[in-house]
Amino acid sequence: MAYAVKDYKTEVWVDWCPGCGDFGILNAIHQALAALQRPPHRVAVFSGIGCSGKTPHYIGTYGVHTLHGRVLPVATGFKLANPEMTVIAVGGDGDGYGIGAGYFLAAGRRNVDLTYIVFNNGVYGLTKGQASPTLPKGVQTKSLPEPNLLEALNPIAVALGAGYTFIARGYAYDVRHLRDLIVAAIQHRGTALIDVLQPCPTYNNIHTREYYNVRVYKLEETGYDPVVHNPADEKEIAEKKAQALLKAYENGDRIPIGIFYQVERPTLEDELAARLPHWGKALADLEPIYQRDLTLLLDELS
Ligand code: SF4
Ligand code: MG
Repeated sequence: MAYAVKDYKTEVWVDWCPGCGDFGILNAIHQALAALQRPPHRVAVFSGIGCSGKTPHYIGTYGVHTLHGRVLPVATGFKLANPEMTVIAVGGDGDGYGIGAGYFLAAGRRNVDLTYIVFNNGVYGLTKGQASPTLPKGVQTKSLPEPNLLEALNPIAVALGAGYTFIARGYAYDVRHLRDLIVAAIQHRGTALIDVLQPCPTYNNIHTREYYNVRVYKLEETGYDPVVHNPADEKEIAEKKAQALLKAYENGDRIPIGIFYQVERPTLEDELAARLPHWGKALADLEPIYQRDLTLLLDELS
């Protein structure tokens, strides 16, 4: 059976403000799943709290709307228990890089095979536009009484340091490009981060569609090669991270989008399979002794 974009939609009313960048991201996810022909019942989408937290309601797959900042541990647990499923985690910049910052780092180190899409708009949109961790210092959006006091966090740079094996940036209003990034991220074996520039017209009047439209350019159109071709070569890894870091800090008149860095290394699933004889078996397939006493499985870890 062939799946069309409509097979990944739901009947739920999409409750975002007119002109919100979230619409473009949702569109791109629908299109990516259709391009990959993943059966809807083989996909699960998880979200944190925020405007982006509503996303699983609008995707016709399995979906869980979790707690603030907690999307990655929930998605990780699900993926480890259901290795054959395609797992997508979504959340906002405040959710993922603020309250969920510790989980953001841990996910890069673990390298579980899942895709994390961050709707990055520089504000906490759902709670009336407070400054988020990605709003630059000194910037005053219309939602702030004073300019932002804190330095911004650079998600690409942090992801490079944390060990993410696929790091990309998309733009919510370039839906085709974002669709292709999501396809590549899902096909990548390991944790893939896509930080998406997502205008919030309601609270952020600085980083608007007009602001980004004249600045974004595509890395792949410049001959940039993000891929580590020999993952055993520490020098190549360092060089590819260094070039990605330089691009991560290019955010003035020109803002790059595309894949910044990609490398293959064993996933956490690979590491567990090497250590646990029963790894990857459904509970129902385990020997009865393991069904009775799961501590035996846990003992294998120690
Ligand atoms: Fe989108 Fe901003 Fe409205 Fe939230 S508050 S739905 S991010 S425009
Ligand atoms: Mg936000």
